Amino acid sequence: MSVCILCLGRAYKYTDGRTKVPLRGGAEVATNARRINGFISKRAIILLFACIILALGLTARLFYLQVLRYDYYESIVLNNVSATTTVSASRGVITDRNGVQLASNYTVYRIFIAPREIENEDQKTLICQGLSDILGVSVEKIREQADMSYYADRTIKKNVEEEQASAVKEFIADNKLSRQIYVEPSTKRYYPYNDLAAQVIGFVSTDGGMLGIEKRYDKYLTGTPGRYITARDAWGKSMTSKYETYVEGQDGYTVETTLDVKIQGALDAQLEKTYNESKATNRVTGIVLDVNTGGVLAMGTYPSFDLNNPYEIDDSILELFDGYEEDANQQRVLENDNYSNYAEVVYDFKNIKEQYSPDSDEYSEAYMNLLYSTWKNKSVSELYEPGSTFKVITTSMALEENLITPDTEFTCTTPYVVEGIKIRCHKYGGHGTNKFRWLLQQSCNPTLIQIAQLVGREKFYNYFEAFGYTSQTGIDLPAESSPIYHNFSGFNAVELATYSFGQTFKISPIRQITGVSTVANGGYLITPHIVSRVVDGNGNPVYNANEEPQRQVVSTEVCRTIWDILEEGVATDGGAKNTYVPGYKIAAKTGTSEVRDVLDDNGNSFLRVGSTVAFAPADDPQIACIIVCDEPMTSQIYGAYVAAPYVAAVMEEVLPYIGVERQWSDEERAKMNTTVRDYVGAPVANAITNMKNLGIKYNIVGNGEEVTYQAPAGGSAFNKSSGTVTLYSGDAVPNRYITVPNLEGLSASGANQRIVNAGLNPVITGATNSVSDATALVVSQEPAAGSSVLYGSTVTVTLRFIGDTDA
Ligand SMILES: [Zn+2]
Repeated sequence: MSVCILCLGRAYKYTDGRTKVPLRGGAEVATNARRINGFISKRAIILLFACIILALGLTARLFYLQVLRYDYYESIVLNNVSATTTVSASRGVITDRNGVQLASNYTVYRIFIAPREIENEDQKTLICQGLSDILGVSVEKIREQADMSYYADRTIKKNVEEEQASAVKEFIADNKLSRQIYVEPSTKRYYPYNDLAAQVIGFVSTDGGMLGIEKRYDKYLTGTPGRYITARDAWGKSMTSKYETYVEGQDGYTVETTLDVKIQGALDAQLEKTYNESKATNRVTGIVLDVNTGGVLAMGTYPSFDLNNPYEIDDSILELFDGYEEDANQQRVLENDNYSNYAEVVYDFKNIKEQYSPDSDEYSEAYMNLLYSTWKNKSVSELYEPGSTFKVITTSMALEENLITPDTEFTCTTPYVVEGIKIRCHKYGGHGTNKFRWLLQQSCNPTLIQIAQLVGREKFYNYFEAFGYTSQTGIDLPAESSPIYHNFSGFNAVELATYSFGQTFKISPIRQITGVSTVANGGYLITPHIVSRVVDGNGNPVYNANEEPQRQVVSTEVCRTIWDILEEGVATDGGAKNTYVPGYKIAAKTGTSEVRDVLDDNGNSFLRVGSTVAFAPADDPQIACIIVCDEPMTSQIYGAYVAAPYVAAVMEEVLPYIGVERQWSDEERAKMNTTVRDYVGAPVANAITNMKNLGIKYNIVGNGEEVTYQAPAGGSAFNKSSGTVTLYSGDAVPNRYITVPNLEGLSASGANQRIVNAGLNPVITGATNSVSDATALVVSQEPAAGSSVLYGSTVTVTLRFIGDTDA
């Protein structure tokens, strides 16, 4: 509104007819007409000028604002009255190497109401009751929102699933409430395999990727949200479409990993098994690696957590200490104040849980500590002393330098003294004099010290660096730990000796399997990686993993020699014979190292890390597998026991899966388990012919024409050399029950004999290599001793070599 300057000094009428003009300060001046005339003419001219100047200025200003800066001010106005609705970008999916989704999204809905659109009380009641019925939110809560009558957007429920959202849409349509109730789609992260590779895949919080791949590849996965910008009038109603724009978003990219769901499943199952059997207080971890490309096929840590509920702790974790009060060694774990590992964190939480309520600070602090520890990817973020598995590396140095051959003889002198420090061989009394190949298979410490001394301090250190042991692997996962090792100036005779068998330096399990893979792939240091490529929405790669080796460290010929020595040890009497898998050539080395930073009251280390690294097939290695069992608490603490059999089980499942065929020796064929055919319903004569052709021993009970029952049942595991199939026919029915004998601690042949004598069918599994008959013992049986089973039923025993002390 423009104002005339003449009106500024408003004229008042006096009640007596005079006019008063208010002046500054409120003084009043009475005037007479004569004087006024001259005065007005002068004053009017001045005012007129002022008026013109001001009017011109105003016009110019208005021209500037309304014409020249029109767009600018319109945009400001629009910003003030417009509403931006974010259309969240779909986060990129994470797949395994076959395209199986490991992390994906599904659509959920937010249901909200626009209280200011609600027309009357009846409509409000209808909305509150209707939404409450569908969504399960109380009528009172919905009414609280509906009563906020100024608002255009009050959330009633988030993360609503498809079914409820559809019901709400129907309710809206039926009652013509499209201006009052809204259903807004959004996406929710979903992990179809729950706890599979949880620490590796990671999860997402409101700030983006929290762990693992979700964190490391967040920038590719996030995408850019789209935006609807809608202008609103003073009452919040949308204005014409002229004022509506849509800024298109960009969905996240697909991250293709090298993981394989099937291989990961095989590894996870064994990690869980050895954790439960060894009661490893600092958790177990394992990796399966493609030794040629460096692609991680599987990586796991147990105990784990569910990626769909990452803030929940599984109750089974708290069972870690069940039975500890009965064991002095386990008691020491709990009593040691310097103990800052997983056991401590679990123990703290367990105690806090008993003393404090869940809403206390103490509780939440202990809870978060346990969560963070459980989220940690042990294979990448935690260090250990590798122990004897490192002997593979020491050996390759000496062979590369042509200092030894597999047949060079060494003498195990125990204790072996280095600069006054006594270093004992794990074998009481020592290994005597023998060929290097045998001494390596037996994991003799004094032999490896002598080898390292031949290599010499400087060359050993150079190889140590060249194999990558002084740096991170560069794996594309967050929080990789750096190795802890001596500077060259601190790397003296004692360190040379202890490094030779993998002690007094610390590395991560991913570092160790990468080192051993260098020997497995013919001498090339590779870069382990978890993502092979990232592709955009059009299928174009925007990132590719570098699978080129960093360098060749040792010759392929040297590697072949080591493959041969290790495989021979597994197939015969080497310390790693628990990794034997019938029909496959496995090269393996076990290790058991001391935990040096946790000592008991007498200053002695009492905790161990048992591990095994293997690669196969030993004549053309494709994959390597490591399992690290950190601080086992059972009587068997050695890598040969707590890791090797589980590595074998992984290999047995993975090798056929990746297309490596079994090749049986005659000896293996004789021990091989097959499955029994199902003869029930077949003519007895045909069954007999078939069994004769297959070389199966049999019994026939009854004299009918047709097989009515058989033991073992069709499809059961069966051993041709020691088993018998019993067929029933006619009126004969199986009615003879046998009590299963106790087989624990027996050798393979002893157990076999006892099972056959009882009229049952033996199936021997576990350690079954060429020397197992003599030294492997039954560690478990199924069914349990004392069970009552039908004559001819199968009894499965698992053998394991006990007593290999691979320090
Ligand atoms: Zn020895």
